[in-house]
Amino acid sequence: MATKKSKPPKLLYGLIALLLCGLVIPLVQIIAMSFEGEMPVFQIGSPIHTIGRSYTLEGHASDQKTGLRRVWIAILQQGQERILFDQTFPSKGLLKRGQLQDQLVSLEINAEALDLGDGEALLRTAVWDYSYRDWWAGNRTYAEHQIIVDTQPPTVDVLTRIHNLNQGGTGLAIYQISEPGTVNGVQVVDSFFPGYSGFFDDPDLHIAFFAMPHNKGPESELYVRATDVAGNSTQARFAYYINSKNFNKDRIAIPDAFLRRKIPEFERTIDMVNPSASPIEKFTAINRHLRQANHKTLKGICNKSDAQKYWEGPFLRLPNSARKAGFADHRKYEYNGKVVDEQVHLGIDLASTGHSPVPAGNNGRVALAEYLGIYGKAVILDHGFGLFSMYGHLSRIEVAKDQVVTRGDVIGYTGMTGLAGGDHLHYSMMVDHTFVNPIEWWDPKWIKHNVSDKLKVFTPEVKQ
Ligand SMILES: [Zn+2]
Repeated sequence: MATKKSKPPKLLYGLIALLLCGLVIPLVQIIAMSFEGEMPVFQIGSPIHTIGRSYTLEGHASDQKTGLRRVWIAILQQGQERILFDQTFPSKGLLKRGQLQDQLVSLEINAEALDLGDGEALLRTAVWDYSYRDWWAGNRTYAEHQIIVDTQPPTVDVLTRIHNLNQGGTGLAIYQISEPGTVNGVQVVDSFFPGYSGFFDDPDLHIAFFAMPHNKGPESELYVRATDVAGNSTQARFAYYINSKNFNKDRIAIPDAFLRRKIPEFERTIDMVNPSASPIEKFTAINRHLRQANHKTLKGICNKSDAQKYWEGPFLRLPNSARKAGFADHRKYEYNGKVVDEQVHLGIDLASTGHSPVPAGNNGRVALAEYLGIYGKAVILDHGFGLFSMYGHLSRIEVAKDQVVTRGDVIGYTGMTGLAGGDHLHYSMMVDHTFVNPIEWWDPKWIKHNVSDKLKVFTPEVKQ
């Protein structure tokens, strides 16, 4: 019984102790949390050095403990401060915790509206949290960024006077830009062709090869565009004339024997073909979707070109060959007398004897040497400054990626890999991401008038 009597007080003390612990520990935790010393963060999206007429500042404010209280952004120039952003965020609950732990800030800085002059300025940012520290004002993180305000767009002088362009052909513009570090090039309707510095000794001089896409007519709008690091942009117009071209129309009958021979090659190499589809359905899937995927790969490769002119003189055409299909031929594919697909042929087909050696069209660096879907075993050469040549349907590839080749070097042998009905070479040329007519690049007169003579005018040795 004595044991029974002593039990209740023990239990009581135990309960009280437990209750105290249950109250005190969370209370201590709450107080500790309320006085947390973790600093809030304001991070600018991308490093800010120069701002132009208009600049979008992207930032991310965060505080993972008591939450965000306030974000403040200002710009200081010659002792005058302009407040760009000042926002206090709401709190919630008895303990006044911030409702937000993360907040994205997007802010348009308009130099003219803020009356900012060109020159140095100081961007200042501050962020507070809901901690009880600093007499309930919260932890504050303050930062300064030295920036340059530059509202002057670059000046661009197009130095080449004549631009006689063929629809589907290539053009060359030479221009001078007043400041370094711009993104510049020729805009052809909705396509941009980057220009390069470094061809001439004068770094202000730039060259840009550009394509007149086969499907853009004589009314197309062209200009040189240059954008400086501050985002100020200039458009410089130049004189040009675009000769319109009518491209051939072609009908290609797809025989069953071709499907029987070709489809297995694709079924082995790609998973784009629905196994239960009919052979002609498989063909159209390859002809459309694989073609599209291959062109995407091709554009990715041709978006990176060496800033070096490897090529010299006219490009070589496959020797002793007959032209079997032309550039920008509009092809209708027929099966059992019905049109099943339409595509544009963006190269020239040349047939010689089977397994003929294929010479490199000109000096260059191998940018691709592998199987490329409808083009089969293929080689792409980078000739520098955005100019590329491509060789498709090869039976064998004789070069490796990044190998430097000389005009005439055998890079492979003709064949019928990919979507080829018979042994031939598919020869394409590209300026950056756009196919151009190779005929111009085989023609020494065209090269002289449209490229070499233009480059010579601005080369000092020749001027003297
Ligand atoms: Zn072809």
